[in-house]
Amino acid sequence: MKVLVIGGGAREHALCRSLSQDPSVTELHCAPGNAGIARVATVHPVDQLDGAQVTELAAKLGSDLVVVGPEAPLVAGVADAVRAAGIPVFGPSGAAAQLEGSKAFAKDVMAAAGVPTARSYVCTTAEEAAEALDAFGAPYVVKDDGLAAGKGVVVTSDREAALAHAASCERVVIEEYLDGPEVSLFAITDGTTVLPLQPAQDFKRALDGDEGPNTGGMGAYSPLPWAPDGLVQEVLDTVLQPTVDELRRRGTEFSGLLYAGLALTSRGTRVIEFNARFGDPETQVVLARLRTPLAGVLLGSATGTLDQLEPLRWDEGAAVTVVVASEGYPAAPRTGDPIEGLAEAEADGTAYVLHAGTKADEDGRVLSAGGRVLSVTATGADLAEARDRAYAAVDRISLKGGQHRTDIALKAATS
Ligand code: AMP
Repeated sequence: MKVLVIGGGAREHALCRSLSQDPSVTELHCAPGNAGIARVATVHPVDQLDGAQVTELAAKLGSDLVVVGPEAPLVAGVADAVRAAGIPVFGPSGAAAQLEGSKAFAKDVMAAAGVPTARSYVCTTAEEAAEALDAFGAPYVVKDDGLAAGKGVVVTSDREAALAHAASCERVVIEEYLDGPEVSLFAITDGTTVLPLQPAQDFKRALDGDEGPNTGGMGAYSPLPWAPDGLVQEVLDTVLQPTVDELRRRGTEFSGLLYAGLALTSRGTRVIEFNARFGDPETQVVLARLRTPLAGVLLGSATGTLDQLEPLRWDEGAAVTVVVASEGYPAAPRTGDPIEGLAEAEADGTAYVLHAGTKADEDGRVLSAGGRVLSVTATGADLAEARDRAYAAVDRISLKGGQHRTDIALKAATS
């Protein structure tokens, strides 16, 4: 199978790593990729938001499967363009990706499907926003309706700040505050059959102890030893399957990766958000534990044949990933600094480094090229071992001004 992956972050490096280990994959390509992906796949410089360019590349390469990683190309309809050319593609249509692209659309689907989520109002004026804030009370949750690369949500007890965020967006969803721990549960679907993956938890804040600003994610781990038994089945029955069925009923069939961000509240499990693609950095730990070769699973989604797949097999152990970010991330990341110690980090074979924002210079040195730079990932018999291995690898890497959290999976590993 010849596979083309679209994207260039640590999620795509994780996808490429798993695909490169799948014996059915004979050729692996990625566009645009990054310095780490270039070690396991042939990289191509294309505009990932341009469906025509992506389709042309896939046709030229004779791709049997195109895997679209990030949300922006999905919402831009890149999967539609590839599908229209008759090439199997993993990823939803632009219309179905509105599940992530519009919070208001997602709320509408959830209401129709009876999926438990926070009560909410869609607001377009300052008066509506003020009324909604007062209806729920503090802490206030204000979400930009559109795609905002993780920066669209403000959770605050400051009413003025909540109003200011609402005023800065064209349309917002204001909703009730959900207490309780968060879980990310991914499922692969072909529009009818839904295969849940293993749950993971990510760390959104920049600093230890969940302090500091929100980020794209500073680390993740799987499994969740504290999660209730039966959680995956419950979410499949009450969230994932009804959502997929409702989208099919509307004629906007959703195939690809359905990501449910959940809060386990005192009043039950609630959906915080849906995403239409693999989450980053949770993908790094979920794929680290998946034993079933990946390409066949993704192709099953792309070709509507997931019902014929054997049950997924999982590593019984644990996985932890720690994100190394550049100085100034998330507000003003500094780029262009050399990264040392990458080979040393992987030397003992217990950890591996997935690249996020990196590029190689003319001399082959790897330089930082984004806010999140690396996702250092390790597996182990349990979370404590995986954590120790991931942090030992992080310690061997040097990046000027580089920052990482020191408490990824700490509570889960020690409780
Ligand atoms: P989202 O982009 O919708 O995932 O929101 C980003 C983060 O904001 C989530 O991971 C939560 O930590 C937080 N958040 C979003 N919605 C709520 C809510 N209704 N109650 C509490 N926290 C929330």
